[in-house]
Parts: sequence; structure tokens; C-alpha cells
Amino acid sequence: MGRYIPENIIDEILSRVDIVELISSYFPLKRAGRNFKALCPFHKEKTPSFMVSPDKQIFHCFGCNEGGNAIHFLMRYERLEFPEAVEVLAKRVGINIPEMKKESKGIVDLYKINNLAMQFYHSILLNSSPYEGVRNYLLKRGLVKTTWEKFKLGFSPPHGDALTNFLKQKGVSLELAEKTGLVVKKENGYFDFFRGRIIYPIFDVRQRVIGFGGRVLDDSLPKYINTPETPIYKKGEVLYGLNFARETIREKGFVMVVEGYMDLISPFQAGFYNIVATLGTALTPEQARLLKRYTSLVIVIYDGDKAGESASLRNLEVLLEGGLEVKLVALPFGFDPDSFIRTKGKEEFEKIIQEAKNILEYKLQILLPQYNIEELEGKVNLIKEMLPTLAKIENNIMLSEFIKRLAEKVSVSEESIWLELKKIRSKKKTNLEDSLTQTVPIFSSIREAEVTLLKLMLKEKSLIKQAKIFLDEKDFLSPQIKNIIDLLFVLDEENKPIEPSRIISYLGEDSTNRILTRLSLEEEFSDLENIDSVFFDCIRKIKEDNRKRICQRLKEEIDIAQKKGELDKVDKLLKEFNALARQKE
Ligand SMILES: [Zn+2]
Repeated sequence: MGRYIPENIIDEILSRVDIVELISSYFPLKRAGRNFKALCPFHKEKTPSFMVSPDKQIFHCFGCNEGGNAIHFLMRYERLEFPEAVEVLAKRVGINIPEMKKESKGIVDLYKINNLAMQFYHSILLNSSPYEGVRNYLLKRGLVKTTWEKFKLGFSPPHGDALTNFLKQKGVSLELAEKTGLVVKKENGYFDFFRGRIIYPIFDVRQRVIGFGGRVLDDSLPKYINTPETPIYKKGEVLYGLNFARETIREKGFVMVVEGYMDLISPFQAGFYNIVATLGTALTPEQARLLKRYTSLVIVIYDGDKAGESASLRNLEVLLEGGLEVKLVALPFGFDPDSFIRTKGKEEFEKIIQEAKNILEYKLQILLPQYNIEELEGKVNLIKEMLPTLAKIENNIMLSEFIKRLAEKVSVSEESIWLELKKIRSKKKTNLEDSLTQTVPIFSSIREAEVTLLKLMLKEKSLIKQAKIFLDEKDFLSPQIKNIIDLLFVLDEENKPIEPSRIISYLGEDSTNRILTRLSLEEEFSDLENIDSVFFDCIRKIKEDNRKRICQRLKEEIDIAQKKGELDKVDKLLKEFNALARQKE
């Protein structure tokens, strides 16, 4: 929302908040020496590698490299934007953030109006005597009262001005209410958007009501309508039920994805809490990212009559692109999750979830009957259809297992499939490279001496001044280490405190943060007496390696210049090369 929070306020908040207290208000932490440990909430693991440091006021997971200060923890765990996380923390420690921008004030009002409307519809469903029939309808559909309460279901009276009048009574400006989509302006005044419908409030992960869905009681059409997109409700960025599901998603290690409100509520009522609904729209990259916060495995549940369409599979590739593993369950023909649970029961539901098929297997199963794989043309076309999906699988073990099976089934060689795959992969190389830099462990590409040097500087602040004498930022190859060292030099010059939790809030770039938190929390150096010699050893190694790299580059340039016959250039480069080569100690 583009809200600016002054740096000194952020510093003030960070100095008052205790990260151990904050994190242990979400899940228990165990003491481990000077630090605290827990199972990482950001990836699935059996032994704890999530560390929290009370001294440094930072956390870092040595399994998945998530890391940061209290603000980052809230951003990741509660999935908040930076200013929102700062606001939550500010409230916690009793600091007032000055300057509230106008538009965010308006936004707050939209949430308030939605909340009023939710309570209005809900109380009508629970108490209003003319609508006994609605309550009976829900009971007949198998929804018990505690479920109405959990999901804050409601009912909108059919006459068309009930909510409008209620809001007017509450002193809400109807002009503003129109922005929530709940009230519609017509020639002769304002009217309710929902009439005579069961109301399903849609929450965001912070439990705020952002929109509504409404279902008719009979067979008239449209069966469902949703509030239109508003400043707080963007269809492609929401997953219905995620607010209720997220804890269990983390616990179970996977999420089930269904389509509609009832597809979610029925299984939920039967005890399947790790479930979200797309509300009928095609999945978006934003939704994939949202899910990735909580799990890496998605099980999509299809209605029986859609199960055979390979087109609907294409929609799921956005999940693969988001780095998620995708499995599928097809319900028997004529069933949706709601009717399946109601007629077959929860044990059967549990069973079909267990039998979910990997998306590759599933797609192959759909494609096989469509091609004659006895003939060359059939083989080629089937593999051609599989390739785009294969290209999106990140897990190489899974990929090679599947390619082995595919090759057998279609009786072609594995190599030929790999070759074809390589062709499309290199076409979208830039994309792939992007995603690779995110998943490859961040340290594999950084020179060890750079890492050690930075570690020493963080431990022994006096070394920062020393390092400045011998090195400048050009000497570092890793852009992240360069960033951090640069900042350390500046902070040192300005005599500012060098505390990891503060430094992080200046850096503001993810991969740099993670390196910093990791180094700050890695095993302390045991032999402090040697710190100077290790320090100078690192500097020497960095210098020497840089020299070799430049020599190598000069050699290549000389080669090229020679081939082109540019003799003057060769001469000049050779001189440079010899001077450098002599420097070797
Ligand atoms: Zn982790």
C-alpha cells in the first residue's frame, strides 16, 4: 500500500521486540546452548534446524536457509507485506506509527463494512424467524450448526434492501459501501447485491473479510455469484479457506485443492482441515506462491466429469512452475467432493486421497488411450504432449524415474526423451535459470574465503577497519557478500552499532539477508587466538584467487586478439599479463 515507515521507528520497534518471545507465541522453542531450536515452519523436517538467537535477535533455518529478524519472521509466517508486519510488531510493543495515508484509511473502512455485513447475514441465518426454511435447507444438505458458525455462513433476505438499510442505520456511507460490491447503485437509489442467497464470507489469511459468495436455494441460475473485484478482493490472489487450513497444511505437509465452497466445507466438516478452494477460477502464479508458503505438495481433487480433460491439467502447470509437487485425485463420474463425502463417507475420502497420482502419471494415463503408440507417429505425438509438463518438473529424481517408465511404456530410448526435453528447456532457459538461482543452496557458488572473512568481521568488529585497509568491494565476487561488506564499512565509518537484526533491515534483499543470518548463527569460532591469522589467510586467498582469475581472462583476450591479428593489443595485454604473473609470491 506504499506506506512509508521512518527508519528510526523501525529501529525503535526492533529494539523493543524480543524475537524469542515473538516466535514462541506461535510454536514452542527449545533451548540449545545460547540459542533456541525448533522444527522449521517453512519446510518439512524431522530434526530441528530452525535456530533463533536471543543475543542477535535473528532466526535462521539451516535446512531451507530462511532467515531474518522479527519483521521477516512475521512476513514469512503470517505472509504479510513489510509495512503490515511492522504494524503488527508496533502494536505488540506499544509503539505508535505516525502518518496514516488516506487510501489505507479508506481500505480499513472497506474491511469494516464487510465485517458488519458478515455479522448481519450471519445473524439472519441463525435467528431470523421467516427463514426457518433456509436453516432446514442447510441441515438437509448435511451442514451442522457449528459449521455455519465456523464459516460464518449467512443468508441475504430476498427483498433487496435489507443490508442497504442495515448499513444506513449503522451510519455507513452507501457510496463507500458500494466499493465493497455489497451495495449496488441504481437510478432510484442503492440496493443489495445479494438477494435470497446463502452467503459465504471469504477471508484472507489474516481473518479479514475481503469478499462474499452467494448461492441460490433452488436450481435457478446463476447458482453462485461472488462480489466483484474490489480494492481488497482480487480473485486470483485469494484461496478460500486458507485462513482455516494453514496450520493443518503445515502439520500434514500437504494441501488439498478443490473448486467450490461446498467442495471445501463438507470435507472440512468431516475433519479434513488442510483444504482450500479456488472458487472456480483458473489457478494463478500468485495462488501458487501463497500455497508454497505453507507446503510443497498439492493434491488437486477433480470432479468425476472433468477428470478426463487434459486441458484442465494445463491449468495445474502453474503450480509446477511455482516449485510445487502436484498430485491428482479424480472422483468417480458424477461426484464432486461434497457429494462424495456425503454419500461415501470420510474413510472412502481418506482412501482416495492416499491414492493420489503424480501429475505426470495422471497425464500419461489420460493420453495413452488417445494415441496409437504401436506406430511411430503416435509415440512422437504422445511424447510431444508430455514434454511441456516434464519441462516444469523441478525434482530431477522424480523426473528421471518417470522418464524411465515413459520410455518403457512407449518403447523409445530414455536418451531420446531427455534430448527432446533439453530442447524445450533451453528455449526457456532464462526462466529456468531464474528459478535455479532461487533453489540452489546459496553458498555453493560463494568462495569460502569470502564467507569466512565476513563471519570473522561479524564476530570481531575491529576487523572491519582492518579489512578496509586491504580490500575494497571490487575484491568480492559474491554480490550478496559485497552488499553486506559495503554496508559494514559504511556503518563502521558512521560509528553505528553493528547488530545483525538491524543490518538486515537496511539490506532488504532476500538472498543477502539469508546469508547474513546464516553466518551470524553458524557455529562460533572455537580458537579465538587464531582469529588474526585466519583473517589474513582469507585476505591472501581472495587476492590470490582474484589474480588468477584476471590472468585467465587476459589469456583468453590475448588468444582472441592474436586470432584477429591485432598485434598492438596483444602486446599491451601481454605486458599486463606478465606484470600480474610476477606478483605471485
Ligand atoms: Zn527451514
